[in-house]
Amino acid sequence: MINYVKKIQKLKDKFDGKVVISAHHYQHPEIVKLADFVGDSYKLAVDCSRVNAEYIVFCGVRFMAEGAAILAKENQKILLPKMSAGCPLADFIDGEIMENVLMSIEQNFQISAIPVVYMNSYTDAKNVCGKFGGAVCTSSNAQKILEYYFAKGQSVFFAPDFNLGINTARKMNLKEGDIIKVNKDLTFSKNGKTPKLFIWDGNCRVHKRFIQSDVEQFKAKYPNGKLIVHPECDEAIVNLADISGSTSKIFSEIEKSKNGSVWAVGTEYFFVKRITDQFPQKTIVPLRQSICANMAKINLQNLYETLKSIDENIENLIVVNEKQNARKSLQKMIEIVEG
Ligand code: SF4
Repeated sequence: MINYVKKIQKLKDKFDGKVVISAHHYQHPEIVKLADFVGDSYKLAVDCSRVNAEYIVFCGVRFMAEGAAILAKENQKILLPKMSAGCPLADFIDGEIMENVLMSIEQNFQISAIPVVYMNSYTDAKNVCGKFGGAVCTSSNAQKILEYYFAKGQSVFFAPDFNLGINTARKMNLKEGDIIKVNKDLTFSKNGKTPKLFIWDGNCRVHKRFIQSDVEQFKAKYPNGKLIVHPECDEAIVNLADISGSTSKIFSEIEKSKNGSVWAVGTEYFFVKRITDQFPQKTIVPLRQSICANMAKINLQNLYETLKSIDENIENLIVVNEKQNARKSLQKMIEIVEG
């Protein structure tokens, strides 16, 4: 059997800093072990924007690699080991639809809503976001980004994940009349008020899979166990949880909990498995085994082949042609969050 770990390590040593490997939390544990940076999409975007290596091999899905390419320096190249690793959530909206939604909001409500797009979107959607003065957000900073625009008296169009939008709105105590769900037919149910938040009707199927009976089963087995979930889960699941937050928050909450504590985690299975292995003194179970098939497309073999191609004939290069406005939207997020 080929020992890819050894081969990858050897190549990394040979490249001596010319190449870095960046891995999202949802990657296979063996990939995470080889990575120079590991994190949620916000941390990885910031890490990649600060690194000087000539090549960043991004172990994640395409929108993340595009995010790194948008922020990359002139001489940097971003590689994605499996080009078909997409994201069905990001597919819910594109730049053209976003422009149509913004236009419809203007016609129906006589306001210019500011677009805020979740990191889980492609470059064309981020370009529209930047063009109209908006910012990207991630699950770790969505509230902060919304607060920034609301404080300026602006209404926001949030896309593409409905659950992250509504769960964030609930945390901020937005009233029903302040929120409008927007879908493809672009018809709006008006209530005489000017809505603060328009939310696109997209979702992540990996997080949609968690249902109430999963929680009931966990609570029946572990009555004192705690439930922690990602805000891409349905509102009903988030309401039943003790804590909700990004993968980084989930990791840090479990890390700082007492030995012997019991957790059910409602997010991608490979991440849950990794923290289960990392904290053997705690009982950590997946709320349900929900795997992101796209994240799982990255493996040791395609990572090795991509690394090997760097000194031969480069493969799996991410090319982002038009990125000026997308860059603005990502930089705006970093500016708001980092203060
Ligand atoms: S977990 Fe959901 S949002 Fe994340 S990459 Fe997979 S499909 Fe996309």
